[in-house]
Formats: sequence, C-alpha cells, structure tokens
Amino acid sequence: MGMVQKTPGYLSEVFCSIQGEAALAGKPQLFLRFNYCGLKCAYCDTSAKIAPGKFVRIEKSPACMDFRNVPNPITAQTLFMHVKKITGTFNSCHSISVTGGEPLMQALFLSEFLPMLRPLRLPVMLETNGILHKKLAHIRKWIDIIAMDIKLPSALDDKNYWKEHAKFLRIAVEKDVFVKVIVNRKTADMEFKKAVEITGKTSAKIPFYIQPATPMDIKTGRLLKLYMMAAKCLRNVYVMPQMHAGKFY
Ligand code: SF4
Repeated sequence: MGMVQKTPGYLSEVFCSIQGEAALAGKPQLFLRFNYCGLKCAYCDTSAKIAPGKFVRIEKSPACMDFRNVPNPITAQTLFMHVKKITGTFNSCHSISVTGGEPLMQALFLSEFLPMLRPLRLPVMLETNGILHKKLAHIRKWIDIIAMDIKLPSALDDKNYWKEHAKFLRIAVEKDVFVKVIVNRKTADMEFKKAVEITGKTSAKIPFYIQPATPMDIKTGRLLKLYMMAAKCLRNVYVMPQMHAGKFY
C-alpha cells in the first residue's frame, strides 16, 4: 500500500454571508468559493473569481469584513482549521455552502475535506452546475443539500448537457435537492420545457426555481408563462430573482 496522495484545494474566498438564491434565500451561511469551472455561461457573475489567485481570502470572524490572505492552494487540514474557527463564533449559521466555480471539479479534495466537517454538525450544501455526475456519486455521502443548475443551451452557445443533467439528478434526488434554471429574454420554450421534463422524470416533487438572470431583462408576463409551463408537470415551482448580484459582502 502506497502513501495516500493529498490533493490541495484551489479556492478564492471563505466568507460569512446571506444566501441570495432559491430555497435557502435569506439564510446565513458560511461560503467556501472554489476555483475552476468547465463552463462559460453568458450570465456568469463569478468568472473573475474562478481562475485561481495566489491567495484564498478568508474572513477572520463572522461579519467582521476583515480578511486574511492564505496561500492558494490550501490543504484540507488548513481549510478545516479556518472553517472550524469561523463557525465556532457563527452561532446562527444555517449551513455551509460549497460553491464556485464548480466545486465538483475538485472532487478529490472534497473527498478528503468534507468528512472533516461532520463533527461541526452543520448541513453541507453543494451549489453545482449539475453536470459532473460521476464526481457527485463519489462525494454524495458528505453532502446534505444540493442546489443544482440545469443549464440551458441558449446560455452556452447552443451546447446542451441534457444527458449529464438527467444522470446527475437521478443521483442528487437521494439528497435534499432543488433545481435552478436561469432564464433571460433569450430563453426559448423548447429548452425550458426540456429542463422541466428532465426534472419531472426524476420526481415531480423536486422544487424548481426559475431565476431571472441579473441584470433582469425578462418581462413579468414571460416569467409567468414559464411558470405555467413548468407547473404542468411539477408541483413545486417558484419564480425568484437573486436577492443580490453575486453574494453579499
Ligand atoms: S457554471 Fe456557474 S460558475 Fe460556471 S460559468 Fe456557469 S454560472 Fe459561472
């Protein structure tokens, strides 16, 4: 048996804030923002933070707005030490959000890091683009809540990930999962219906959030039409804009 290879993680920031999207909007969370993402969504608000920088910006304590710079990449042990320290004084923290970028691109690191979080007794939420299903299968036992995007081809130069999304959702449904579809004025009925169909085929009960892209360029009437399309197959549909562009700082 050889030595277990430790894989460091690439992150841009660790900070306390309020979730601004979908099912947990309004809840205080600790955010761990991972570098890297395999996609280039037209509306991405975090692209500048996806490329790894020299440091991970880590908030010293909840709501202090004072950060320390820790070298990037970071070991699971060091990241855990910071998370433990922050959550120790963040007594109203609802959960830990593992966000990005696309955290599943660093599944090996997550498989080492996420088990360390268990003693903190905080739910772990994965925010994901819903494509890397094999990686999800690898780490799912350490995740409690999954915020899964279904990406529409109109935001991705017509590339579609329907098969990957369907496989992903079949694994994710074992957890507390909700789906988020970002729409704008370019969203076509056909692609939107496909996202609804993929969700409904897994379970009509999965909460389905229609989120207008920020800045909003879509009319309320169109959002209502999309809602009605989704509600034909799904029982828990919501239209909900982002509470803020990006995250609170
Ligand atoms: S999947 Fe998310 S992080 Fe990646 S490009 Fe799209 S919006 Fe940005």
